[in-house]
Amino acid sequence: MHSASAATTNPSTDPERTDTAAATGVRVRFAPSPTGDLHVGGVRTALFTWLFARQQGGTFILRIEDTDQKRYREDSVNSITSALTWMGLDWDEGPIYQSGRLPLYQQYAQWLVEHDFAYECFCSSERLDALRTEQVARKMPPGYDRHCRNLTAEERAAKRAQGITPVVRFRVPLEGETLVQDGLRGASHYENRLLEDAVLLKSDGFPTYHLAVVVDDHDMGITHVMRGEEWLPSAPLHMLAYDAFDWPRPTLYHMPLILNPDGKGKLSKRHGAASTLQYRDEGYLPEALANYLLLLGWSFDDHTEIFTRAEMIERFDVLRVSPSPARYNYDKISWFNQYYINHIIELDDLTNRCLPRLQAAGLVGDAPEGSAEWQHARAAVALIKDKMKLLSEVADLTRYFFTDVEPYGAELLVPKKVEPQVVQDALARTREVIAELGVDDEALLEERLRALAGEVGLKAGQLFMPIRVAATGRTASPGLFETLRVIGQERVLARLDAAVALLAAAAADAAAAGDTPAAS
Ligand code: GLU
Repeated sequence: MHSASAATTNPSTDPERTDTAAATGVRVRFAPSPTGDLHVGGVRTALFTWLFARQQGGTFILRIEDTDQKRYREDSVNSITSALTWMGLDWDEGPIYQSGRLPLYQQYAQWLVEHDFAYECFCSSERLDALRTEQVARKMPPGYDRHCRNLTAEERAAKRAQGITPVVRFRVPLEGETLVQDGLRGASHYENRLLEDAVLLKSDGFPTYHLAVVVDDHDMGITHVMRGEEWLPSAPLHMLAYDAFDWPRPTLYHMPLILNPDGKGKLSKRHGAASTLQYRDEGYLPEALANYLLLLGWSFDDHTEIFTRAEMIERFDVLRVSPSPARYNYDKISWFNQYYINHIIELDDLTNRCLPRLQAAGLVGDAPEGSAEWQHARAAVALIKDKMKLLSEVADLTRYFFTDVEPYGAELLVPKKVEPQVVQDALARTREVIAELGVDDEALLEERLRALAGEVGLKAGQLFMPIRVAATGRTASPGLFETLRVIGQERVLARLDAAVALLAAAAADAAAAGDTPAAS
């Protein structure tokens, strides 16, 4: 149908063509340009579009808008699809690459030229640059001056004879208004005389965004166009193109801008417009990021914050998306992440997500699910998960469950106002208790160690702190007895031995120092 011989056929008059939009229900697309990573703003647009598709039982299409060869970045399609996959935003069709459809755009551009909706422009980039400089100097609005709009056939032939390949520009009507209907913002009217005769087809045969987006949205039967607010100013031109082709206009939804946390300006990289994959690498959960992004411009009511994927699909209402810009809030994403880690994700699942990070840190081996090693990791994760803001923190938070404690100084074992010798004896007796009782019965062990504290003249806390330091190398850990249980009896005994030895060595050093005449 898009063969060269059909070059001048407008599909709306093509008898072979059926109206796919009406026949197939909701069809929406996410149409990133492969010019870099997918940032959070883009992924929010993708999320809203995907939710709408899933909720309507529609089709979600991934289209790669790679018509700008200068800005194309090799690895970005990979990074975009990985980000969408990680976020759980699966597509039903695509990825469709615009660069693979050049003849299609060329034939539509030609159709517009032949029907006087577009014209060939031979202006050199030098001329256009000079024009812009002059406009700026004269404080005039920049834009093309329609220099080639009325060239005669002879003039065009002469330019071609000089070897100049023209671009194709849209012939915007000089009078009247164009109505743009946005589903979130209502109607706006644009004066046609203020719109530019935008380039549709470049001299290299590639379409610009303006042509490709209109042709593709129509050709793919897109019923609802959802995209960022930055494209709103292009909408009147697109509507004029739909009208020129005599195609039905899709419903437009321009998603609100995302602003920096201070409300000033569009979200910048410095303020978190990081690549979505960076969030993944830093240890955010896709569920948490999606939940946060869902509420960036949309709300269900004034209090519901947590939405499962199923609830999102059920409750999302595109008409409740606010047209006003939304401020990005880093603390809030963090809050969601912690909440999901702590309250939403099942422990087995959380363990599996932490595992690669534990493995990368060399703390855990293969650990197939259900194995003893995996169970051990699961138990460790269970104890620290309420302290974990990011998955990337898991290795640091759990290190001592898997490997030797980091070296610490003897003074860490000795609470204020307690003699080191008392601590040393108390730890030696603790060792005896644990050698006999084990660590599995937390309540019994606690009872026995409380009693021991009394026997050696310490408060419970004055005994528990050195035990904690001995067992973990740290002064802060999850609950002492659950920590001991997960570390395991054998390791705990060895660590108590090491602590006792450390105190003994420190005492010997002190004695030796005390014996030295120079020290007295
Ligand atoms: N390719 C455009 C972008 O990267 C998408 C615009 C649209 O969705 O129409 O933002």
